Amino acid sequence: MFSLSGRTALVTGSSRGLGHAIAEGMAQAGASLVLNGVDKARLKQRAKGLREKGYTVHEAAFDVTDEAAVLAAFTKLDEDGIDVNILVNNAGIQLRKPLVDISIDDWNKVINTNLTSSFLVGREAARRMIARGRGGKIINIGSLTSEAARATVGPYTTAKGGIKMLTRAMTAEWAEHGIQANAIGPGYMATEMNKALLENPSFDAWVKGRTPARRWGQPNELAGTAIFLASSASDYVNGQIIYVDGGMLAVL
Ligand code: NDP
Repeated sequence: MFSLSGRTALVTGSSRGLGHAIAEGMAQAGASLVLNGVDKARLKQRAKGLREKGYTVHEAAFDVTDEAAVLAAFTKLDEDGIDVNILVNNAGIQLRKPLVDISIDDWNKVINTNLTSSFLVGREAARRMIARGRGGKIINIGSLTSEAARATVGPYTTAKGGIKMLTRAMTAEWAEHGIQANAIGPGYMATEMNKALLENPSFDAWVKGRTPARRWGQPNELAGTAIFLASSASDYVNGQIIYVDGGMLAVL
């Protein structure tokens, strides 16, 4: 029920961080991978690492915010006969500034990378899934900020709130084609994106005090939920966002 063998998963932003851990978990469950990032050298090196573990890994370096690049990447996958039937929209960036100091360029960059990219890549994946008639799985990566705001991360909060509703919009139109679109909302995870926070003793203490599990999450702790949402075990789960957060959202 949880096997992903015979399936191919494109995980955006999988050259490091949570995306890489999700991709590796899916490979362990039997999926072939399409790894993505913008830094080609890093992508190549991380893909090599997974191949050395025996997994089937393709590379697709493209900027998820660039429509022409997204279209070109899917055209190349089509030419190579690679059918993406699992998509994880994971690529994302953070920018910490008070709203009053945010320029329109900052705002657009965060919204484009964290929200519009999921529409763009999701649209190309879904067009193909619908045409093939065999359904598919789309997993969007939200955040605790899909539910709750926090000072200094305004555009990110706005984008991640949008991810929750984009997941429902995808469900409204694509569920009838056998595509299950769901989301994962990670809590505070120990990744590069949070390096400054991890190294800040008072923020580290706040995360540990505020999280019922009393610790940061590890990237590989998202893999189980991602595998569930990518497998036939979730074939009647549509439009949901599952929080993997050590209980943070459940308590005041
Ligand atoms: P990292 O900064 O560790 O990794 C980001 C990844 O996204 C890299 O692979 C990077 O590629 C890629 N990326 C960034 N911009 C683009 C782009 N324009 N096109 C293609 N790839 C891009 O981030 P995390 O692993 O921490 O975060 C992953 C996701 O999880 C994000 O959506 C984030 O918002 C979300 N999240 C993270 C949490 C956390 O605690 N870390 C908590 C909640 C949600 P490259 O290496 O080439 O730069």
